[in-house]
Amino acid sequence: MRNLLDFDFDSAHIWHPYTSMTRALPVFGVHSAQGCELELVDGRKLIDGTSSWWACVHGYGHPAILTAMEQQLHQLSHVMFGGITHEPAIELCKKLLAMTCEPLTKVFLCDSGSIAVEVAIKMALQYWQGQDLPLAQKAQKQRILTVKKGYHGDTFAAMSVCDPEGGMHTMFGEAVIKQCFVDAPQTPFGESLHQDDLAPMQRILREQHQDIAAVIIEPIMQGAGGMRFYSSEYLRGLRALCDEYNVLLILDEIATGFGRTGKLFAYEHTDITPDILCLGKALTGGYISLAATLCTDNVAQGISQSPAGVFMHGPTFMGNPLACAAACASLDLINQQEWPAQVAAIEQQMQRELADAIDIPSVKAVRVLGAVGVLEMHQAVNTAALQQQFVDLGVWVRPFANLIYIMPPYVISSAQLSQLTQAMKQVAATITPPNITPPNTTPELASQGWHTDQNISISHG
Ligand SMILES: *Cc1c(COP(=O)(O)O)cnc(C)c1O
Repeated sequence: MRNLLDFDFDSAHIWHPYTSMTRALPVFGVHSAQGCELELVDGRKLIDGTSSWWACVHGYGHPAILTAMEQQLHQLSHVMFGGITHEPAIELCKKLLAMTCEPLTKVFLCDSGSIAVEVAIKMALQYWQGQDLPLAQKAQKQRILTVKKGYHGDTFAAMSVCDPEGGMHTMFGEAVIKQCFVDAPQTPFGESLHQDDLAPMQRILREQHQDIAAVIIEPIMQGAGGMRFYSSEYLRGLRALCDEYNVLLILDEIATGFGRTGKLFAYEHTDITPDILCLGKALTGGYISLAATLCTDNVAQGISQSPAGVFMHGPTFMGNPLACAAACASLDLINQQEWPAQVAAIEQQMQRELADAIDIPSVKAVRVLGAVGVLEMHQAVNTAALQQQFVDLGVWVRPFANLIYIMPPYVISSAQLSQLTQAMKQVAATITPPNITPPNTTPELASQGWHTDQNISISHG
């Protein structure tokens, strides 16, 4: 029997994401992980439905990534990137440029997703500083326009473009830069654009484009802001509006990149390309923190013409060789092209196995796109209580807000995936639905009544 962890020390002294240091939430001790399973310190094994916050797409302990990291560790674990370059960074950037769309030619390596967004926003502001515009107009172009229900990270500029209601704006008041928001896209994925869905975006751009440096958006899937999948025609229309009103388009593919939605990048669901692209999460296969912000020649030119003459950012651990080596190995696995069939199979199986979850009274909607499966509940769930139920069922699923979702590793077996979908339905069935159905409704009434507002939107990739 292994020693159990010092949970008392943990709860007294160590912050976990979004937690209180005086009212600690339960944590589970993980000893190791292999494939799609986490092994707890008490020896229990859990099938991972989260890919460690959407990053671990090839599973844990993958020999190719481990070998690449081990070799790199002994050769050169880290060296400053100022005035120095190295093979892992060059290899990684070559791979990234080969995989992404042609107009993207420049790569800025950074530490985490939030920083990739900070970098993207700084790029957009410096770009306009470098344009041949009247001085007053240059100074004006500093706002970022985005949609509600977005999520772009936890640092200040990233936070300023997160959903203004569900995000963290209210807690930080005036310290958060005021950006421009319009309603989130309403047309579900796979549908042709509802009339007027882009109208709010068009109106703001028409009226305020002189003030707006860039639009930032998560393409196709709004992740942590609500797990919403929207029409590719919205994205296409947005690109056209950005061109029309002379505003840059930043796509945040930190969650969607590297196959998650069924395309290598979510922007491939249509035929557009961004001016600036943010990547992170699955970039290293979930083995170590690394992110990247890519931009076009045009954006890079503008930045060079700005008064600073250089791009004003340079993290201590920029281009960390160990992280670059992990990313190179992960991208090699992506380039072996097994993921399209894996993600398609996961999508089909989730569509089959989650469709009847709509009959569970507490479930409001069921959505599947690529390797993302979502039960949207009528009400916010108790994460800690549900987490325990999932662990008791032998799976790791971490609900948030009113969402019980899975984003499993691409290498998950069909039996493991079934265990996840069964657990989702089993746990959802234990939740009391909101009191909107009379206790002795006839089946017919029930189906005509409150079931009608349960819009099942099983999407097709
Ligand atoms: C997770 C996420 C981020 C932030 O990434 P971190 O590595 O947590 O800083 C930004 N944008 C999107 C879309 C994300 O999903």
